[in-house]
Amino acid sequence: MVKSVKLTGEGNSKVGVGENSSNISVFSTDKIFVSPDELKKWAEKNGRENGVVIVTERTKKNAKGEVNKIFLMCDRGGVYKSTAKVKRSGTIKTDCPFQLVGKYHDGYGGWMLQVSRDAHNHELAQHMEGHSYAMRLTGEQKITIFQGESHIEVLFRHLDDKGYTHDFCKNPSTNAMEDLFFMHPTSYNMFRSFPHVLIIDTTYNTNVYKLPFVQIVGVTSTYKTITIALSFIAKEKEDNFRWVLTRLKKMLHECMMPRVILTYRDLALINACNVVFPDAAKLLCRWHISQNIKKHCKQSFAKGNNWEFFEELWSSVVFSPTPAAYEYSHKRLRDGLTRKHKRVFEYVNTNWLVKYKEMFVSA
Ligand SMILES: [Zn+2]
Repeated sequence: MVKSVKLTGEGNSKVGVGENSSNISVFSTDKIFVSPDELKKWAEKNGRENGVVIVTERTKKNAKGEVNKIFLMCDRGGVYKSTAKVKRSGTIKTDCPFQLVGKYHDGYGGWMLQVSRDAHNHELAQHMEGHSYAMRLTGEQKITIFQGESHIEVLFRHLDDKGYTHDFCKNPSTNAMEDLFFMHPTSYNMFRSFPHVLIIDTTYNTNVYKLPFVQIVGVTSTYKTITIALSFIAKEKEDNFRWVLTRLKKMLHECMMPRVILTYRDLALINACNVVFPDAAKLLCRWHISQNIKKHCKQSFAKGNNWEFFEELWSSVVFSPTPAAYEYSHKRLRDGLTRKHKRVFEYVNTNWLVKYKEMFVSA
């Protein structure tokens, strides 16, 4: 934890290294960085964990015009000359003396970080401690931390900090991010232990961007479901699903491929599964099917009138143990749905049984 040093004098110039010399700074490191960028990223990350927002103060060039020194400071460093600027950025400048210097060392062939002034003249943001700092921030601090960073950068930083495996793809013409895939390290371990059954589902309207949200769930040996990976996709097209499934496949060895994939009825998704995991059995989720049928057909049954009877006929079709039993139950369903329920039979038969029975009927 960086100690916050309150100044008693009038000018900030009085604060020097001496004030904090008894404590080893959290920014002290023997690390050799390959670039000033890497050095800055390390300092920023370390800053976030300790309540300091690190920004670049200036850089210095050598005689050849190459950058060989970078000065980093606290975002409270410096003073604003005009009040307009204060309003725009939302950060209150207190002329904070904190300073880090990154220098290129020929001898090491890399960059080293030196703590030149490890003292602040303001309270440090306690909220930034821990990992979920970005989620718990209030308005003013958000502006401070997100200064100069887009939402996407903040998101990626958060995913990095938590150790997620992530990937994204961009639209080649607009350069905008289209699909995003991410997997938590714990999920990765679970996935490698239980790669055999996957359940893929997509939800809508769960996010402000109205993007389809793909959830890939696994099943453990004790039949518990576990989240494996999550993905936002721009469109529910085969290409987008294929991209997501390929990311997933990359994380497994050849001998660990899924054997069963349970999906809902979406041709684009089913086709993508067939391409990426050709050897896995593709099944449709019966629960999704029954929800779909309920949505389309229940209103045609008068209240308390035969809906339960239909459900019973339907489940005997779905759970037919043999092809012969299926034929028998299928005939019972057709015969049971006469007159005004004929359309119900047509709906379930054409939409589900004719095309997809192999994917959800037991037999
Ligand atoms: Zn400061």
